Amino acid sequence: MRVLLIGASGQLGIELNKLLSKKYQVIKVYNSSEIPDSHKMDITDFFRLEDFIIKTRPDVIINTAAMTDVDKCEVEREKAYKINAEAVKHMVRASRVVEAYFIHVSTDYVFDGTKGNYKEEDLPNPINYYGLTKLLGETFALSYDDSLVIRTSGVFRHKGFPVYVYKTLKEGKTVFAYKGYYSPISARKLASAIEELLALRKTGLLNVAGERISRYELALKIKEKFNLSGEVKEVDEVKGWTARRPFDSSLDSSNAKKILSVDFYSLDLEGMVL
Ligand code: NDP
Repeated sequence: MRVLLIGASGQLGIELNKLLSKKYQVIKVYNSSEIPDSHKMDITDFFRLEDFIIKTRPDVIINTAAMTDVDKCEVEREKAYKINAEAVKHMVRASRVVEAYFIHVSTDYVFDGTKGNYKEEDLPNPINYYGLTKLLGETFALSYDDSLVIRTSGVFRHKGFPVYVYKTLKEGKTVFAYKGYYSPISARKLASAIEELLALRKTGLLNVAGERISRYELALKIKEKFNLSGEVKEVDEVKGWTARRPFDSSLDSSNAKKILSVDFYSLDLEGMVL
């Protein structure tokens, strides 16, 4: 089976490639962070994107590519829309032509964060442009019958809040942790869940995320676990943020827990690549 992995150079893409290449032929696509044995492509070159899919005729397409910098999306709106939404429309168009099974990754930031523990059927209401473009992207993906949209939260590997906390505390500096809640997951745990969902060929919308935790509690856990010297302070706002953040964007992954045999939800701090 041939799997086209778009976003192979990202946190999730790297972990997915490790797992999937043991079983399948993986065709990898990156944009600016070069990785071996792969194809360079900007997915906003829609003609090339569709052409590439039609010519390679993959059985499965996994899209983990996104503009993930929430503040950058707020400012560079057109670019964010093209990468997070419009490109997905073109992936779906080409998937229909080659009859590929399409897996797309979305975010807890489609919600406004007033409620928390969001289920798949809860009403999205994004409060920043990243969330809006990702919501449009998942809508394009779900317009295709043979697609699975996975909503996740706080993905970490070599980037993400836990890595920032570890590095800052290790230097003896203070971490300012936003008061809100989310459900962080390591890229490697998310990849193992996706591997299983791919084998099951699940379609529709599914939450796959970690247990609900506040960033403050998480930072304290990291400080304790690695015996780090810096301090942790809880704050209502983080300096330098342009975009609004949902207060509690945690996801309820109970449906995924029923389907999957892998433990994707326990906090996996060993999944940090430091
Ligand atoms: P990363 O930021 O680590 O990686 C993003 C990937 O997208 C990279 O491979 C990058 O390629 C690729 N990409 C960006 N722009 C383009 C472009 N124009 N053309 C082609 N490729 C492009 O993301 P993660 O692995 O952390 O996230 C994976 C998915 O999970 C995304 O869909 C994201 O929205 C979602 N998600 C992430 C969360 C998080 O906290 N990170 C939380 C919730 C959901 P390159 O580097 O080569 O340019």
